[in-house]
Amino acid sequence: MNLTTQLLDASDPQNIEKAAALLRQGEVAAIPTETVYGLAANALDERAVAKIFEVKGRPSDNPLIVHIAEVDELKELTSRLPDAALELARRFWPGPLTMVLPSSSIVPALTRAGLDSVGIRLPAHPVARKLIKAAGVPLAAPSANISGRPSPTSAAHCFEDLAGRVQVILDGGPCNIGVESTVVSLTDGAPRVLRPGAVTPEQIKAAAGSVVIDPVVYQKPDPDAPVASPGVKHTHYAPKAEVVVLHGNWESCKRFLAKQAGEGVWALVFEEELADCPLSALSLGPSGSDETQAMRLFALLRELDEKGARQVYARAPRQEGVGLAVYNRLIRAAGFRQLAVDREGL
Ligand code: AMP
Ligand code: MG
Repeated sequence: MNLTTQLLDASDPQNIEKAAALLRQGEVAAIPTETVYGLAANALDERAVAKIFEVKGRPSDNPLIVHIAEVDELKELTSRLPDAALELARRFWPGPLTMVLPSSSIVPALTRAGLDSVGIRLPAHPVARKLIKAAGVPLAAPSANISGRPSPTSAAHCFEDLAGRVQVILDGGPCNIGVESTVVSLTDGAPRVLRPGAVTPEQIKAAAGSVVIDPVVYQKPDPDAPVASPGVKHTHYAPKAEVVVLHGNWESCKRFLAKQAGEGVWALVFEEELADCPLSALSLGPSGSDETQAMRLFALLRELDEKGARQVYARAPRQEGVGLAVYNRLIRAAGFRQLAVDREGL
C-alpha cells in the first residue's frame, strides 16, 4: 500500500462528503468518534470490510463493531432484540456503549468474524453521525491503529499508523473519552460486560437490573478456552517499552521506583505524585479523575515510545467506574505483567 493520505478538517462539510463518497465506493476512511478514532468501511459490504482487516493487519477472528446513526437501524441488523437492549439504547445512545446482539443475515460473516452475533453502537460524535448518514450505510469501524498498537485518540495518531495505507483521515480534534466503547453482550442471560469503557457496569446494572463482568476484563484469557469476545485474546495497546503495572500505595511504589533508575526507565504516575517521583515520569492524570486518565492513556503510551522508553512502571488505576476501563487497557499494554510492591516488601 502506498497511497497519498489526506488529513481533512472535519469541520468543513465538504470534507465529510468526500469521506462519505469514498465509503459509498467501498473504500475505507479514518474518522473521529468520541471514544477513539475508527477505521471505517461499509459494514454490509464484505469486500470493503476486508480492506479494514488488511489495512490494520487485524486477525480475521476479531469481529468489528457496526456503527449506526439511528436506533431504528437495530431492527434490520439483528434477528432478536431483547427488552434490555432497547432500555440500554434509550439510556446510553448516542454514546460509548456497544451491544452484542443476535445478528441478522444481512451482516456479512467477515464483519462479525463468523460469529452469530454482531456488536452495534450508535456513536455520539457529531462527525461520526453525519458521516454514517451521508454514507447511507452502517459503518464497521475498529480503532484506526495498526493492530497491536495503542488506539489513536487524535488524527495525528492515525497518521502515524496509517499514512500511505488510507486515502483520507478526517480530523475532528482529540477524542474526549479516549478509551474504546464498553462492550456488553445481550445474547443470553444478564448483560455481560466483555470490555469496560466509559459506560460503567454500575450504570448498566442501574438501567438493566443486573450485570455480569466477564473474567476476561481482569485476566489474561486462557488460550485454550473459548472466549466470548475474541478481541480480548490478541495483543493490544502495546508500546515498544515493556510495561509493568504496580499495585501498592505511593510510599511503597516510590521506594521501588527509586531502585529502578536507569537509561530509558520511566514511570506513569498520578498527577499529585509527579513532583515526588524518583524517575522520569509522565502523569496519568489526578488519581481521583478516571475520565482524565482514560482521555490521556493512549497518547501517553505513544509519547513513551517517542521518548525512547524501554521500561515503564505504571501506577494501577482504581478498578471501579471508568477506572476499570483504564486498568483493563493498561494491563493489556503491560502484557499482564503486574507487581504488588507492598506485598513483596520492596
Ligand atoms: P475494536 O473495534 O478494535 O475496538 O474491537 C472491537 C471489540 O468488540 C473486540 O474486543 C471484539 O471482540 C468485540 N466484539 C465485536 N463484535 C463482537 C461480537 N459479535 N461478539 C463478541 N465481541 C465482539
Ligand atoms: Mg482496537
